[in-house]
Amino acid sequence: SDDISPSPHIEYDRLLGGLLIEGFDEKTCRSRYQFARYHKSPSIPSLYLIERLRKQEVLQKKCGPGTKAYKEASKQLSSGHTINTTDCNYLILIIHAGLGNQMLEIASAFLYALLTNRILLVDRYKEIDDLFCEPFPGTSWLVPSDFPLNYGEFTQSSPESYGNMLQNKVAGGNTDRSLTGTRPHYVYLYLNGDYGFHDKLFFCEDDQQFLQGIPWLIIRTDMYFVPSLFLIPGFQDELSRLFPEKDTVFHHLARYLFHPTNNIWYSVTKYYRSYMAKAAKRVGIQIRIYETKGILQRNGPFPHILNQILSCAQNEKLLPEIGMMEGAAAETQNKGAAAETQNNQTIAVLTTSLSSWYRDQIQKKYKEHPTVDDTTVKVYQPSHEEYQRSRNRKHNMKALAEIYLLSMNDELITSGFSTFGYAAQGLAGLKPWIMFRSENHVAPDPPCGRAMSIEPCFHQAPFYDCKAKRDGDLGKVVPYVRHCEDVSWGLKIV
Ligand code: GDP
Repeated sequence: SDDISPSPHIEYDRLLGGLLIEGFDEKTCRSRYQFARYHKSPSIPSLYLIERLRKQEVLQKKCGPGTKAYKEASKQLSSGHTINTTDCNYLILIIHAGLGNQMLEIASAFLYALLTNRILLVDRYKEIDDLFCEPFPGTSWLVPSDFPLNYGEFTQSSPESYGNMLQNKVAGGNTDRSLTGTRPHYVYLYLNGDYGFHDKLFFCEDDQQFLQGIPWLIIRTDMYFVPSLFLIPGFQDELSRLFPEKDTVFHHLARYLFHPTNNIWYSVTKYYRSYMAKAAKRVGIQIRIYETKGILQRNGPFPHILNQILSCAQNEKLLPEIGMMEGAAAETQNKGAAAETQNNQTIAVLTTSLSSWYRDQIQKKYKEHPTVDDTTVKVYQPSHEEYQRSRNRKHNMKALAEIYLLSMNDELITSGFSTFGYAAQGLAGLKPWIMFRSENHVAPDPPCGRAMSIEPCFHQAPFYDCKAKRDGDLGKVVPYVRHCEDVSWGLKIV
């Protein structure tokens, strides 16, 4: 039945320390109140965060689709007049890219909405409701289908983009208001990885003050831009009240926002109970390969990556070393040792990868050789999709199930650079061992290193120092925003 806890002896707090509230229908979204059973959080959310989430829920309900305020505001948007008669302001997020990226962009947009008293609406384009339940009570976070702006056509060069407004001196922070006078009724924020100098001024204080007065913001991003919000002076006090433990932003917000739909959750919990629940220890290994060898060998097989995985796991004592003997001799020795030490512990390894080769090879090694401490190692992998197909419904559902399964391990090894891994470590609240990127088909030495924090990395973080008005090293401004372990030019909260 659905109510069997994987670890019935462990007390769990279904509301995640107050992040969630009672009152949602449990049957239509089982994961919401059940995820608590499957991970141990290292942190409790601050009372202030909880207070602000409740306020945000009130705002989402008051200003959301179907309300008088929403009708009023969207009428103004289509007419082009701004007579701000309501106190409802909006942030529309255009969702795209892979699933890991999507989770990072939604969490970032939500935090920005919270900081600027806007409601967050996400676009339907990716059929987000196949993947996630509604997070806010009594309202919907999906942009209604009759939304007046065709934002799907906006690109980096659209004149509506904030960067272009600044560049064309139409409007913006720091521009001479006497020249321009008018405020646009909406602004498009282009914050994709390939954004330009003017787009990045979004992360400056003056520009934030300008944007504060715009009722509709439409944001397109594929990144976790939270670290740069921590560098904007106007947000700093509020952020430290919300997150006294700074490196828990994604952990709390992701557990607040994301609740996989029943189909996905059913496959997650079934898999967990079948293969992971009974093991003495669970180790998740996320294998994401960016190297190619010709067009046919996208995910390998690459023996140097297999070696990297094994030496990382064994050096860091996440998996036992294997003995030297092979075949029958090994088996005899195995039996003998087992009789002596009575070690019948099992480690369950959950691998995720687009390829099945790595899982098969790791399993083969542990099957053919005894381990030095006689632990049994079993390796499981739920799927091997071969290619990334971000617009395929079933494919995305499998990917989400695997992100959640990864988050249910006791230890994690992830592939550097990958937002898929960031999402899993963030949900889990685990500091993973990050496998660094190999170059020219040679695995790096050391093969992996421990992450400084559980936070995701902001890959294409800006390096413009707004105060000094020139480029600077933004990884050295405050002690809690540093360069990432895996992406030297990126920023992360530690
Ligand atoms: P990133 O590209 O590694 O940063 O992660 P994203 O999640 O943004 O994009 C990669 C996409 O490829 C995922 O959303 C999946 O669709 C697919 N993918 C990559 N690795 C895996 C995996 O281990 N399992 C499954 N099921 N899909 C994967």
